[in-house]
Amino acid sequence: MQDLAFLPRLIEALGPDVVATEPDQVAPWLADWRGLYRGNAQAVVRPRSVDEVARCLALCQQAAVPVVPRGGNTGLCGGAAPDSSPANVVLSMDRMNAIRSIDTIANTLIAEAGCILGNLRRAAQEAHRLLPLSLAAEDSCQIGGNLATNAGGVNVVRYGMTRELVLGVEAVLPNGEIFHGLRALRKDNTGYDLKQLLIGSEGTLGVITAAALRLFPRTDARSVVLAAVASPLQALELFELLFAQCGARLQAFEFFTGDCVDLVLKHAEGVQEPFSQRYPAYVLVELADTTDEAALNVLLERVIGEALERELCLDAAVSASLSQLQSLWKLREEISEAQRADGPHLKHDVSLPIEQIPAFMVSMEARLKAISPSIRPFIFGHFGDGNLHYNLSRPAGAQRDWTAQHGKALTAEVLDEVARYGGSISAEHGIGQLKRDDFLRLKDPLELRMMRGIKQLLDPAGIMNPGKLL
Ligand SMILES: Cc1cc2nc3c(=O)[nH]c(=O)nc-3n(C[C@H](O)[C@H](O)[C@H](O)COP(=O)(O)OP(=O)(O)OC[C@H]3O[C@@H](n4cnc5c(N)ncnc54)[C@H](O)[C@@H]3O)c2cc1C
Repeated sequence: MQDLAFLPRLIEALGPDVVATEPDQVAPWLADWRGLYRGNAQAVVRPRSVDEVARCLALCQQAAVPVVPRGGNTGLCGGAAPDSSPANVVLSMDRMNAIRSIDTIANTLIAEAGCILGNLRRAAQEAHRLLPLSLAAEDSCQIGGNLATNAGGVNVVRYGMTRELVLGVEAVLPNGEIFHGLRALRKDNTGYDLKQLLIGSEGTLGVITAAALRLFPRTDARSVVLAAVASPLQALELFELLFAQCGARLQAFEFFTGDCVDLVLKHAEGVQEPFSQRYPAYVLVELADTTDEAALNVLLERVIGEALERELCLDAAVSASLSQLQSLWKLREEISEAQRADGPHLKHDVSLPIEQIPAFMVSMEARLKAISPSIRPFIFGHFGDGNLHYNLSRPAGAQRDWTAQHGKALTAEVLDEVARYGGSISAEHGIGQLKRDDFLRLKDPLELRMMRGIKQLLDPAGIMNPGKLL
């Protein structure tokens, strides 16, 4: 039974400028970025402070009202879209967007959860530091959402996932209590690391309101090469060589197939054909350092020269200017958008033990072609971290509802194979609504029991983001 006094109480506690209830005000907050999920909500709350978040959650828990935290809504698993319950409250963090401090001695940045990632990267840049978290959605996603999903991106090979970049978290628990974990200490071995529970929790344990992030030296010297490879095995050998010879300067090691290049050239503007012929696959490598771009170029050219000699790649183009560097990156960055423009498709963001990627790709393709000979796989991703976006587009001429008809079975096929190779069914996008059934089917029962125990402890009323993750 819905508590009819709830909304008036919420408005009284937070004010009508924080709580929107008119259907046309609420409507824009009901769907996910991909348009796969659309739910309902009785209100959208846009707090300006941690105290307002705390008041909101305390009232929601008292009335058993479900809360759906919302960042930039760029999540790819439907985590920020409410379910069908009309009782939902969407809690958007967009107004909590202040940078609280930048410290260039401790090398930390403390930001509120609603800060757009790209703005934080630019603020760090202005302070002559680097915030290495970087993804194609960085001018829309929020740092709170990045923590909640433990986002990855293109620099993980050097700096790690979001959880490795976070020193402290401030959050509001479902009962309205504030978790004051915003310490910026490098060393703090006083028991369980509770902030790590909130990182990657996808809004199911509480609302992250601020984070203390690690900063690094700015890497203004950059050098990029696009190397053509015959196979994932060649990409793996090239990775081993580059890692051994370039060490910590290896900033990104991305992989994509020739089919992805076709797709980008078809749908994206201002992208150029990289070589005079099409190759089976490509790796995009970036080296970065604080200074001395000339030395970096020399190093990259030497290592790539050795790779060509040892037949670890087929062809290579090293960036000679910033505009060339950007246009090489564009080939990789435009793949997601190009696939979106190409029509409905199935996304699989998986990770594997890196040395298993070549064998996985061979056996996966054979399994899929046995089911659907003309299926179109578009495979790309952060190869250096063992992360592949193993996406499937419908065969030419198939009905537009192809994904609805075949999606479940094909996804199960991909994820089962990933599990067989000891991989993860979600490398960096999370579980949300999209992968919940497969997650519950494939996750180790003990790990699931431990997760449910944590959920029960922190959110006994089950108000936080129901239907997501667990
Ligand atoms: C073009 C494109 C490229 C992308 N590339 C990458 C990539 O390379 N790597 C990668 O990891 N992801 C990538 N993503 C996915 C997405 O950008 C990330 O998952 C991002 O971290 C989501 O942040 P957000 O602010 O948009 O969160 P939302 O989509 O708003 O929310 C995501 C989840 O976090 C919860 N949440 C949001 N804010 C909070 C908060 N303050 N407290 C508690 N819970 C919260 C939500 O309830 C939801 O469950 C990409 C997305 C797009 C559209």
